[in-house]
Parts: sequence; structure tokens; C-alpha cells
Amino acid sequence: MKLPEHSLDFDREHIWHPYTSLTNPLPVFLVTGAEGCRITLEDGRSLIDGMASWWAVIHGYNHPELNRALKEQIDSFSHVMFGGLTNKPAIELCSRLVDMTPAGLEKVFLADSGSVAVEVAMKMAIQYWFARGQRGKNRFLTIRNGYHGDTFHAMSVCDPETGMHSIYKGILPEYFFADAPQIPFSGEWDELDIAPMQKLLEQHAESLCAVILEPVVQGAGGMRFYHPLYLRRLRSLCDHYGVLLIADEIATGFGRSGRLFACEHAEITPDIMCVGKAITGGCMSLAAVLTTEEVGHGVSLEGPGNPGVFMHGPTFMGNPLACAVACRSIDLLQETNWQANVSRVERGLRAGLTPCAEMVGVKEVRVLGAIGVVEMEKPVDMARCQQLFVDRGVWVRPFGRLVYVMPPFVMTDSELEILTGAICEVVELEGKI
Ligand SMILES: *Cc1c(COP(=O)(O)O)cnc(C)c1O
Repeated sequence: MKLPEHSLDFDREHIWHPYTSLTNPLPVFLVTGAEGCRITLEDGRSLIDGMASWWAVIHGYNHPELNRALKEQIDSFSHVMFGGLTNKPAIELCSRLVDMTPAGLEKVFLADSGSVAVEVAMKMAIQYWFARGQRGKNRFLTIRNGYHGDTFHAMSVCDPETGMHSIYKGILPEYFFADAPQIPFSGEWDELDIAPMQKLLEQHAESLCAVILEPVVQGAGGMRFYHPLYLRRLRSLCDHYGVLLIADEIATGFGRSGRLFACEHAEITPDIMCVGKAITGGCMSLAAVLTTEEVGHGVSLEGPGNPGVFMHGPTFMGNPLACAVACRSIDLLQETNWQANVSRVERGLRAGLTPCAEMVGVKEVRVLGAIGVVEMEKPVDMARCQQLFVDRGVWVRPFGRLVYVMPPFVMTDSELEILTGAICEVVELEGKI
């Protein structure tokens, strides 16, 4: 395909990119191909990809097995509605999800994106208590530094400062925020860490339907890794105070944190769990919400005012094409020994990023599973950094004070060396500014 000379101008003038201005947009690079861990730009440059297209592309780009699953499904049929009809890829996927997620999660709702999955999870929690006649239990509690998506209710539980809420004040529901856990993943546990959460649960249990949070790894809201015992204690507290627990595993699911699901670090089963991002290996948009028999049946109770059905049904629910490629991606994960790969990537990130810890302007370096973070003292200039990375043949997109990567699990050791080497160089330059 030969693109017209002015295609980047058209992009600049007419197309919104994530979180950008139409008046003064950040530069974008035109991609013409992607293969394995590399992205090819129009001018022929090839970049080693540190972002896995926002956590999603765990097996690398243009994977022949994933492509084959898509092509086979296309030749059969790409989509049929899910109301009154069902399809084998959706059934297969849901059966795999029930098998692989923490014990007790038995019922599956297929959604089309992560944010929608969060909306669905929140509606489920409200309707569960509503159906039981507890209509006052309809508020949410979360922790600071969270990120749950960009739709309205998802936004309402994102970090109130970094989450860009201020524009929507008065429109967004105002929920409860506990201070974020402070003890790092492998730090020494202290019961005081959970005290702010416990206090809010105690004060507001009567009006709370659920606590929602990202288990162990807080993603886009701060890239923080907290102690698994926090999650263990929270599970018990939620049971004690009669509040549901929603785990948003959209970023962490499918091996990213070193466990298949981050909840496994704490050996807990949430009442409701959201998965997305890596579910299709990064090929298509798909997400799912899993819940227990208790919540599933609770929502479906017929009673005064409760319709006895769950009130949600996206047009592209259960899309066979997305489900078919998700099944293949999950098979690949299991066939390729994801655990060995994630540990290898973890070692590579740790070895490669540790030198940054000594550099001027760096606050902290942290690595967990296939996630590497260099936290700076001051926000970096995203456009400048991005260009510096591209000049060094890698794709890294920092935001705020965070220069972070979550590469495909299949990244080779030598690619990891180039990637982390480039991060060290750019961080050293940025730290001095
Ligand atoms: C990305 C993300 C979402 C939102 O998913 P989208 O598919 O972008 O709507 C929700 N929760 C977490 C933890 C995420 O990382």
C-alpha cells in the first residue's frame, strides 16, 4: 500500500490519538508492519517494542498461530449476535477462563473492552445487593493511584488526582478512596498498611456494595507493586463487613506479574474479576467479567423491582472472531511455558534497569514479572523522550514521572539488552535536564 504524501498531515488535522490535543498534538510515527517484538516504521526503521501495545501483545506481533485462528474463524463466520444465539469460540473461551482463573469464579460475562468490563462489574455489584433488598448498598471504595478505564463509572474509581477527574466534578459519582498501600511487593509486611482501608470499611460498610482495586500491581495510575498480604487482609475484611471484592486484572491477567493472575500472589478469589488487554494476545478488543455462583445467582434473583436478569448486553458480545483468537492465545501461553519466559524477562529487566537507580533524577527502579519501571523525580517530556527512544531503535512511551516497559513475553535476551540499554541512556539524559 502506497500512502499519499500528506497522510501524516491528515492524521494531525483530523484524528484524535489517546489523551492528546487536536490543536497541538504530540508527534506520531507511522507504522507499516509489526513482527515478533519489532515494529517497522514507514521510513524502514525497526523498533524493539517495550510496550506490548499497552500490555496486550504477550506473544509478539503477527504471530502465525494467532493469525491462523483468526483466518479460520473468518472463513467460518466473523460475528453473530449473542442474544438468543451462541457460538463455539465463546463457549470454549469461557470454559478456559473458568478453568484457569482462581477457584470459585464460575460465571462469565463477555464484554468488548476493559472499561466496559469495569462498568459491568460495578453494575453487577450494585444489582447483587439491590436484588437482595439492600438498596442502600450502592457505593464503591477503592485505593488511590488506581486506574480502571475512561468511561464514567470506571473514571469515578481512578485516582482522583492523576485520573483527570476535575473536569467532571459534579457529574461523576464521588466514591471513597483509601490511601494506597505503601509496603512494596517484597517489603516487610506491617498491619498498619491496611488500617486506612479498614477504617473506611468500618465507617461505610452499610452503604458499600464493593471494593474495587487492581490486585498487587497498580498500572497506569502509578505503576506500583504492593504487598500481597494487603490483598489477603482485604479479602477477609470484605467478608467481615459484607462488601464484595472486585479485582481488576485487566493489566495483570495472563501472566504479566509472574503469576497467571495477580490474585494468586495472595491466594485469594475475588467475588468479581475483570480481564482484558492480553486476552486475545493483542489481536482484537475483548474483555470478560467473571464472578461466583453466589453473585451470579444473587443478581438473577427475582424480587420486588429486580428484573431477575442482568441489565447489560453489548452489540458485539461474545464476538466469535475475538473469542477464537483468545482461545488460541491462551493455548499458546500454556504451550510456550509462559512462566519461564516471564522469569527470564524479569531477570533481563532487573539486570538492565538497575544501573538507572544510581542516576541523577531517578527516584526508584522496580521490576515485577515482565514489568519494569524507572520512576523519575520529575515528569519527563513525553515527546522528547519518545524521539530519543526512537533514535535508539526502541519503542517506549513514558508518562508523567514514569518510564516503564512491559515487553512481549517472547522478547529475547539480546533485545532486552538493547531495550534496557536505551532506557538507561535516555533516563541519564532526562535526569540532567
Ligand atoms: C487498560 C485498563 C482498563 C481499561 O481497559 P480498556 O480496554 O482500555 O477500556 C481498566 N483497568 C485496568 C487495570 C487497565 O489497565
